[in-house]
Amino acid sequence: MNLLLENCGISKKSADEISAIFNGGRVPHALILEGAPQPAALTAKTMAKACVCTSKGAKPCGQCAACKKAVAGSHPDIFILDGDAGTRAFPVDMIRKIRTDAYIRPNEADCKVYLLLGVQNMAEVSQNALLKVLEEPPENVMFIMTASNVSQLLPTIRSRAQVFTINGADGEKLPEKAFAIARAILNPKESELLFLLSDFSNDREGFRQTAGCLQLVFRDALVARSGGKSRLSGQDTAASLLCGSLTRSSLLELLEVTEKVPAALDRNANMPLLLTSFCACLRCAAGR
Ligand SMILES: [Zn+2]
Repeated sequence: MNLLLENCGISKKSADEISAIFNGGRVPHALILEGAPQPAALTAKTMAKACVCTSKGAKPCGQCAACKKAVAGSHPDIFILDGDAGTRAFPVDMIRKIRTDAYIRPNEADCKVYLLLGVQNMAEVSQNALLKVLEEPPENVMFIMTASNVSQLLPTIRSRAQVFTINGADGEKLPEKAFAIARAILNPKESELLFLLSDFSNDREGFRQTAGCLQLVFRDALVARSGGKSRLSGQDTAASLLCGSLTRSSLLELLEVTEKVPAALDRNANMPLLLTSFCACLRCAAGR
């Protein structure tokens, strides 16, 4: 598989390490991404998307029907349990249900993916239930877990999964930066937004990744606007703030503005010009 881990908020080194395993064809049936919750979850979700993506090239392509379903949270072969919110997210009944379900063939994709986020919060009884399926993994099933600290897991779980320690890109500051930018868009004055963006004058990659994070925040706000509950950005506060302050069409426009960033960067656009125009487009989309 040609796995592409872009805009996940992790360092290039971490992304290359994980991609190398996948691209070498040694895909583990269970893996744990250890690191800060937000980039770890984003990476896990991108990997899940790649597992169901039907593109022949780099995955996830973001364009195929499977990728679109994955982004919308409606792919029938991706199951997400988010435990970062607290310890009750992994009830043992739920893990037993997953265990049974894992032996049923995938619905649409070549494999089923179980995303268990924040497994450091999983109670021991649930970990033991999970262990049974990790010991005798069904074919075409992948468990992708994230944990802020794997030492909080049973050694038996750790030994059954491949552990990757991931480092955030730029000390994990990018998602926070995206959050600050999202807030600044609502500000009537443009100075704050311009100031935040000026940090990227000499940091094309940082800008690319931040625009990717922003895209997820806008996407989350749009989903929230239509009453949906799926969140991908890990920035719930930013998403609800935007959802409460902007119209659906404004949010759609904001999404479009961020979607154009990678192409502009690939064209080798002049950074100060690109940032100034990005700022103007965001403000215009938000009706500021
Ligand atoms: Zn795809």
